[in-house]
Amino acid sequence: MPGLAAPYHVDAALQVGLEGCGVTREDALSLMNEAPLPALLDAAAAVRDRFKGRPVSYSRKVFIPLTHLCRDYCGYCTFRADPQPGVQPYMTADEVLAVAEAGRRAGCKEALFSLGDQPERVFPEARDFLKALGFDSTLQYLAAMCELVLEKTGLLPHSNPGLMGLDELRRLRETNISVGLMLESASPRLLRFGGPHWKAPDKVPSLRLRTIENAGELSMAFTTGILIGIGETPEERVDALLAASTVEDELRWWRFAAEVPTFGGEVPLGYAHGVAGIADALLAASRVLDDQRLRPAVREAAAFLRNRAVAANDGGLTWPNIDGTPPTMIAWCHGATGIARFFLHLSEIEPDALGVADCAARTVLATGDGLGATWCHGLGGAIETLLDIGRVGGDEAFVLGAKRLARSYENWRHDAPDGTPLWVGDEPSIVTPDAFVGVAGVVAAMLRLEGHAGGLN
Ligand code: SF4
Repeated sequence: MPGLAAPYHVDAALQVGLEGCGVTREDALSLMNEAPLPALLDAAAAVRDRFKGRPVSYSRKVFIPLTHLCRDYCGYCTFRADPQPGVQPYMTADEVLAVAEAGRRAGCKEALFSLGDQPERVFPEARDFLKALGFDSTLQYLAAMCELVLEKTGLLPHSNPGLMGLDELRRLRETNISVGLMLESASPRLLRFGGPHWKAPDKVPSLRLRTIENAGELSMAFTTGILIGIGETPEERVDALLAASTVEDELRWWRFAAEVPTFGGEVPLGYAHGVAGIADALLAASRVLDDQRLRPAVREAAAFLRNRAVAANDGGLTWPNIDGTPPTMIAWCHGATGIARFFLHLSEIEPDALGVADCAARTVLATGDGLGATWCHGLGGAIETLLDIGRVGGDEAFVLGAKRLARSYENWRHDAPDGTPLWVGDEPSIVTPDAFVGVAGVVAAMLRLEGHAGGLN
C-alpha cells in the first residue's frame, strides 16, 4: 500500500500504478523523484504478482556472434570491430553449425545470433564476403544461417541484428522463435556531437521504434529494453520506457481473442457470422483508415483459421462451420468460399495467403455443384469467389469452373407466371429480391460473369 508519509500527488501516482494500466510521464517522474523506496518497491511487487506472477523462466542459449563488424560506433560498445587483415568478416556456415551443435550437446535450446548493424554498407570486406556467397545483405545471410541452424540442430534461433524492415522481419519470422532490438534510448540528444550515439546512424530512436512496430504488425515475439548508464538523464530513462510501452499499447489496440465464444458458446469460422468476416472487416478498416494497429488481430485471425483448415479433395482445403466440429459446408456464409475471400484480400499484404485462398477455392470448384442458387449459401457467392481468385492468381481453371457452376442456374430457375425468371432462396417457398438469399445475388453473380466472360445472357 502507498506510504502515509508520501505527498498526496505521489500517493495518487502510486494508486494509479497499482491499477496496472500504466502511468503518465508526470506520475512516473514524481514516483522516480519523490516516492519512498519501500512504498515504490511494494507497489511494483504487487503489480508483478497481480499481472505476471512469481515464476522466473530462462532459456538455455548458445551465443553465435555472426559478425563483429558494424557500421555504427556506439561510444560504450565492447562488441564491435573494424575489419582486420587475416580475420574473416563473418562466421562461415561451418563455424556457425559447429558452435550451434556444441550448444545443443551442452543442453541449449536456443541459438542467440548477435551481430553488428549493416556492416556491408560501409565495409567492402563485408560486401565481398556476402557477394561471394550470393547474398546482398547481412540480414539475408543471417536468415540463411538461422534456417541452417534450425534445420540441422533443431535449436530455435533468436536474432539481434539491429534495424529491420518488414520484409526482413517476415523472413526471420519463418525460423526465429523471437527477435530482439534494444530501444536503448528515446533521446535524440544522445546523437549529438560527442554523445554516445553521434557516430551511430542506426540509433535514431524513431527508426528503432519503427522496427519494433513492424515486428508488432507481424505479430512476432519480440524483446526490447533500454540501456542505463550511457549518458542519459533519469528523465530520459522514463521517456524511453514510456516510448517502448506506448508502442506495445498501440499495437494491442485490437487483438483477436480466439477463446471468446461468439454465438451460444460456439465459434463460427465462416464469413457471415464468424472469424473470417470479422477479420476481413478489420483488414478493410485498416486499409481505409490506414491504421496498422488493426493488422495484428487480422494476422492472428488468419493463423487461427489456418490451424483449423482440413484437407479436402483435389488438393483443396475446407473448414468446419463451427470450431471443433467436422466440416459440413463450403457456402460463402459458413465455409470455404467466404474464408477463401478473406485470405484472398489478405494476400495483398501477406502474399502467402494466396496459397490458402487457392486451396479453399479448389474445394469450391470440386464440390460447388451441390450449392443452391443464391449468393450467401449458394452459387452466387461461389462464382464471385472463383472469378476473383482466378483473376488474382491467373489460373483460368477457376474462371472456367465459375462458368460451369453458372450453368446450374437453369436447374434452379422458377419462372413467374408472366415469364420473369426467378430463383428461390434456401427454402423453395422463399422468393425474395434479397442479395444474400434471393434474386439480386444471382443477378450480381451473372453480371460478374458477363463482365468476365462476355456474352452470358
Ligand atoms: S550498434 Fe551494437 S554492435 Fe554496433 S557499435 Fe553500437 S552497440 Fe556496438
